[in-house]
Amino acid sequence: MTKCRHCINESMIEHEGSSLCTTHAIERGMKKCPQCSKQYIPTLGKRDPNDDRCIQDIYPNSTPTEREQLMTGICSDDCWDMRMKY
Ligand SMILES: [Zn+2]
Ligand SMILES: [Zn+2]
Repeated sequence: MTKCRHCINESMIEHEGSSLCTTHAIERGMKKCPQCSKQYIPTLGKRDPNDDRCIQDIYPNSTPTEREQLMTGICSDDCWDMRMKY
C-alpha cells in the first residue's frame, strides 16, 4: 500500500501519477462514476460551489467528457456510451 503524497494516510486512488488518500481526494473534488463505480478526480478539478455560471462559461476550452465528469459524474466516453444503451 502506498502513502498519500500529502499526508501519512494510505492512499486509495491514483491521480496523474500521484497517490491520494480519501481526505485529499475529496478535497480535490473526487467523484464516483455512476456507471463503472470508479473513483477519480475530474480532469477539470473541483468546481467552485460559489460559481453558478454555466459550466461552458467557466471552462470554455473543456471537452464534453470533462464537463460530464463535473455534471453527471460519468468518467469517460466509454461509460457514457454504456449509459446511453439503457
Ligand atoms: Zn492525504
Ligand atoms: Zn466510469
